[in-house]
Amino acid sequence: MATNGGVGPKATTLSQVQELFIGGKHKPSSDNVEFQVINPMTGANIYSCASATVDDVSEAIESAHTAFKSWSRMGPSARRSIFLKAADILEGYIHGDAPEILASEVSATATWVKVNIFSTANVLREAAGLVTHIKGEIVPADRPGTTVLITREPLGVMYAISPWNAPVNLTARAIACPLICGNTVVLKPSEYSPKSQHLVIKALTEAGLPAGCINFVPCSPDRAAANTEFAVKHPTVRHINFTGSERVGKIIAGWAASCVKKCVFELGGKAPVIVREDADLDDAVESIIFGGLANNGQVCMSTERVIVHKSISGDFKSRLLARAGALKCGNHHVEKDVSISGLFTPASASRVLGLVKSAVDTGATLLMGDMKLDGPNKTIMRPHILEGVTREMDLYHQESFGPVMILLEFETDEEGVDLANDSDFSLCASVFSRDVMRAMELAKQVRAGSCHINGPTIYIEPTLPNGGVGGSSGYGRFGGVAGVEEFTERKIVSLAQPGMKYSF
Ligand code: NAD
Repeated sequence: MATNGGVGPKATTLSQVQELFIGGKHKPSSDNVEFQVINPMTGANIYSCASATVDDVSEAIESAHTAFKSWSRMGPSARRSIFLKAADILEGYIHGDAPEILASEVSATATWVKVNIFSTANVLREAAGLVTHIKGEIVPADRPGTTVLITREPLGVMYAISPWNAPVNLTARAIACPLICGNTVVLKPSEYSPKSQHLVIKALTEAGLPAGCINFVPCSPDRAAANTEFAVKHPTVRHINFTGSERVGKIIAGWAASCVKKCVFELGGKAPVIVREDADLDDAVESIIFGGLANNGQVCMSTERVIVHKSISGDFKSRLLARAGALKCGNHHVEKDVSISGLFTPASASRVLGLVKSAVDTGATLLMGDMKLDGPNKTIMRPHILEGVTREMDLYHQESFGPVMILLEFETDEEGVDLANDSDFSLCASVFSRDVMRAMELAKQVRAGSCHINGPTIYIEPTLPNGGVGGSSGYGRFGGVAGVEEFTERKIVSLAQPGMKYSF
């Protein structure tokens, strides 16, 4: 087995074993077990990844705990300069093997690779800027001669889990704000994308992040539950942030509840778009195609439900189908300019197709799609657009996380909002209308953490407090100062005048 054995990051070439990174050192797992990371498009083994044990997670927590003592006291300028340097280093990876890593692990198209790298650099820069916004207050006190300060303090060791779908960006999001606030982190990446996620660890380490501040503990799927339960319940771990499915989010929420631990849950979505009768249809179609099909619909903010006013639905449908039909789908390893490549596993492709087939079998109408999976490993699925999907069908309620949209019709604005809100997901939404005041009214009524007027459901910037409003989309916020609020805690520091007498 190839081991690094040394201190600091090593070159991340695609075929090399990916090791754990604990206390500033790369290492194999404590029992030397590895798992295979597979190219979903071809089905070929790409490389072996060390599979962390509970003992490794324990060591990572201890190492983060030790690093916390000095990192939490490091001045803001020093912390900021590490993050700014890491952003530049990460951007440089676009000229290295990062594109190949992302294309091989998660079938990222050339565009998705760029989005991941450049938006991540901005996540790191925004975090750097936040370091001087970790501010407290001075509040008036009734007690004579007393001064009361409310400070914001880091919490300690955080356990973060980030997914494969935007692996670089979401890894940075899971660790950047927690770190800049003075916490230290143990990161569990997805079993599908350890190397893409390790790029962020590598950039921060190359930029000078002290040993132990970030620890990286990938593991095989069969170890995920035990490792995470151990970390969530570990007394030294003070906070958990999880970006992933509602299914796993609910399991982790249960463990965290058993020890009353603070969490951020960024879960799934089933984003609705309301297209009013006065919408600019070309704009709406362009945004819906982007929102529904970017990264093959594998984005938590993906447009899954298109709710169109009955009076324009015929015209809208023909424009939407024409635009979707013109997209190039295929194997991104062979044709570099495809807009739609493969889904992240053959199992996911089968599940998404199963949802579509079941809807069609029970009465939905397929407006676009061949109900087939293509490609060497059966992961390529063309866009599928359906109407007549009813509340009795799984596709109506479940996040597809694939290139699938359902069309629904409404007549009054109230009906449109009711349809949009007929979901347990609550991450984001859009409204299309030329009547901006009316659209504002609808945006207020849609239950979602964000609602975009005349823009796609996929829209996020590092300063924005992204997140759901409970239920299947989770709760908590990462972006901007909202992130500082999540990853620090208020502390009352009072200063009493000497010589006070207390009566009771
Ligand atoms: P997932 O929930 O399947 O997996 C997440 C992690 O949980 C993985 O690391 C996995 O190893 C681990 N895991 C699996 N079973 C577990 C168990 N029983 N106990 C503990 N851990 C377990 O999600 P995913 O496939 O990585 O990501 C896709 C999901 O993430 C989608 O639902 C998507 O909408 C969501 N997502 C949300 C956001 C957001 O900001 N809200 C962003 C991106 C993705």
